[in-house]
Amino acid sequence: MDATSYDIYTLDNVDAEKKLWNNCIFVFDTSALLDFYLLTNDGLTSLGEAFNHMGERLWLPEHVQYEFLKNRSSAIEGVLNLYEPLVKDYSVIINKIVSLKHKVNKILMHPFISKDSLNDINSTIDTINKNTTSLTKIFKEQKREKIKLIKGYQTNDPIMNLIKTYFQVGEYYNFEKILSIAAEGKLRYELRIPPGFEDYNNDKKEGTQKLGDLIIWKQILGVAKLQDSNVVLITNDIKKGDWCVLDKNKSINNPLHDLIREMYDNNGKRIWMYNLKQFINGIDDLLGIKVPSDLKFQVNQIISNKTKSIKVEFECECCDTVNEQSILEDELEYELVERHPRKLGDDCRYESEAYFYCSKCNKEIKALFNIWEYPQGSHSCSDIELDGAGLRSQDPFTRPYNEEDEILYDLYIDQMIDECRGK
Ligand SMILES: [Zn+2]
Repeated sequence: MDATSYDIYTLDNVDAEKKLWNNCIFVFDTSALLDFYLLTNDGLTSLGEAFNHMGERLWLPEHVQYEFLKNRSSAIEGVLNLYEPLVKDYSVIINKIVSLKHKVNKILMHPFISKDSLNDINSTIDTINKNTTSLTKIFKEQKREKIKLIKGYQTNDPIMNLIKTYFQVGEYYNFEKILSIAAEGKLRYELRIPPGFEDYNNDKKEGTQKLGDLIIWKQILGVAKLQDSNVVLITNDIKKGDWCVLDKNKSINNPLHDLIREMYDNNGKRIWMYNLKQFINGIDDLLGIKVPSDLKFQVNQIISNKTKSIKVEFECECCDTVNEQSILEDELEYELVERHPRKLGDDCRYESEAYFYCSKCNKEIKALFNIWEYPQGSHSCSDIELDGAGLRSQDPFTRPYNEEDEILYDLYIDQMIDECRGK
């Protein structure tokens, strides 16, 4: 038995990882590149400085370049949309304060409020109103500046400049080559050989779109062979199981074994995968290139928002625009709205309200996130109801773990045991 032949499938010590990182090319996929748009200007500068130390080791498959150019406008739009809910929240607060003042001053409705107290209340409300209004002004100015900056990206794009400066692009595949990949893809997808078999069954992707991941994979193999090099692949498309295995924190643990094997058989080299956060930490820990903590913080936020976000695709009823927007799990506040006792415990329904805004016509779309649990704390199903748009697709979601539920559940079990004992 030759146990060393299994070594290509593991990367479990720092020395092996350092060895790989010092002898590889770094290949980015489209999702990792598009997430550069979420970095601040300072973050981008730090990233550029780190890239500058990496020599000519940064690569893009040609199909990644194509997908990036195709999707960058909507990535820029996406950043602008992040501001919309904040603007709305501010106006809601101000409207509430004004209406509170009206209510308080309908003195006949509150005969128990004395004249003196009423004056106090009014002056407090006025102070809150004044402070909130000035906060809103500061916020709106900042937002205007940021929007101006990001809109400028359409003509002078710092991310595009960064990519042009530091990345080399692999070979272009003509249509004939794509067709031969399609023929191979049919067999691979039938047997669920990675990558990209999930896209193949995605009805929203058409023609060669279904082959995107496989084309990119073939181009990665091509660059690796040409450069006679190991590959470190950076992706932020962390929800797809047709490239890699995730650990319990949803970081990338390892590429799927079929990919490792195919790379090894292609040129005798290794491949390993990381998300952008793991990559940035690796630049520091494994290559010894100092990365400012602020950049680490920003990238950390991007990844943790991704793992905790629920993506919803909807079609606006007013303008028919199809929007893809996300909401963070943390932003949803679930309320218990129904509870029916059943044999194994309570059957519970929770709901949480949220709002989306159409990116084209700005229509407000109310979303109701529903979760059923039976028994309480144990997820059984979930759905989303939209008012103002048609739902096209959604990420699965559950109610985050709640300590109170566990206490309730323990109490319930105790009660059941007591009942069984005939107490
Ligand atoms: Zn619309």
